[in-house]
Amino acid sequence: MRKNIKNYDLDNLKEELKSLGEKSFRAEQIFKWIYQDKVQSFDEMTNLSLELRKKLEENYSLGIFKIVKKLESVDGTKKYLFDVQDGQGNLIESVLMQYHHGYTICVSSQIGCKMGCKFCASTGIEFFRNLEAGEIVEQLLAIERDSNVKISNIVFMGIGEPLDNYDNVMESIKIFNNPKGLNIGARHISISTSGIVPKIYELADKQMQCTLSVSLHSSNNKTRSAMMPINNVYPIEELIKACKYYINKTNKRISFEYALAKDNNDNLEDAKELVKLLHGMLAHVNLIPINKIEGGKYTKSTNENIIKFRDYLNKCGIVATIRRELGTDISAACGQLRRQNIKG
Ligand code: SAH
Repeated sequence: MRKNIKNYDLDNLKEELKSLGEKSFRAEQIFKWIYQDKVQSFDEMTNLSLELRKKLEENYSLGIFKIVKKLESVDGTKKYLFDVQDGQGNLIESVLMQYHHGYTICVSSQIGCKMGCKFCASTGIEFFRNLEAGEIVEQLLAIERDSNVKISNIVFMGIGEPLDNYDNVMESIKIFNNPKGLNIGARHISISTSGIVPKIYELADKQMQCTLSVSLHSSNNKTRSAMMPINNVYPIEELIKACKYYINKTNKRISFEYALAKDNNDNLEDAKELVKLLHGMLAHVNLIPINKIEGGKYTKSTNENIIKFRDYLNKCGIVATIRRELGTDISAACGQLRRQNIKG
């Protein structure tokens, strides 16, 4: 099978070209064709000889996705369902969101997810495989081609657990970062994790400049384990210890995600527990009104409770904001579209 040429950052692409008996500057030309000119075939790389184009075609694919479905919200959010063209019919989702500071894309990191969070639309769907780096990068390219926009921010909040596909996610970030390609700085990239503790230490030691978001959702082990089985493996104390190490090492703030579900984790006692847990940490809390999934037991908190919760945190010196809901009319939340399309 041909290798996806988008799996290689520039340095690795130079090595690949060398192994084909080519000069390494060819890699820079190819990189530019892919990431700046966004071509969809080797034939369009007109400053390469016909012979080299043929050689590339024989050895590599450009990993172009096919759009299976596209939904557009009244607020401008666009949700894409892609066929990754791996011959297995695998589908993934990505979302394009427009903010005042530019376009953000929410990418998937795996086909399916192993985490089994009870409130998440990806739950109950079999895990197939990790996405390759090139498949992560192609989500952005496919959307830029289709929507004709320049994406400036990336969040790893689509389907999958990015730290469970650590190597490929890191490789994709190198490709996103490269100034000779997409040139999206690490500060414009967020990784969201359900709390894979050893990988948080690894990220800290790497001194990554990306933003780290941690899906906390509760400050006590009983409630968190009921929502997120991963808490049985890495309970809150261990998770917070790793987060403190990360903050110390990188001097970067962590964003804690907290999805508020009615009568589950949204009362004043919960807010008090959260304040205690995060006391003194360089942290920000992102409150998300939980999106009820079909058949799920968690329902959205009332607006009144959400505001009370936020105000309490703010009063106690913890910066908390309520995430604006985008694309609710097109089921833009994580995993929902794929779920609808592979159920029947
Ligand atoms: N696996 C990673 C990233 C994917 S989910 C993680 O767990 O962080 C991205 C964010 O959406 C996470 O904070 C997740 O907990 C949240 N999320 C998932 N399903 C949701 C739902 N139904 N309502 C609100 N937030 C949800």
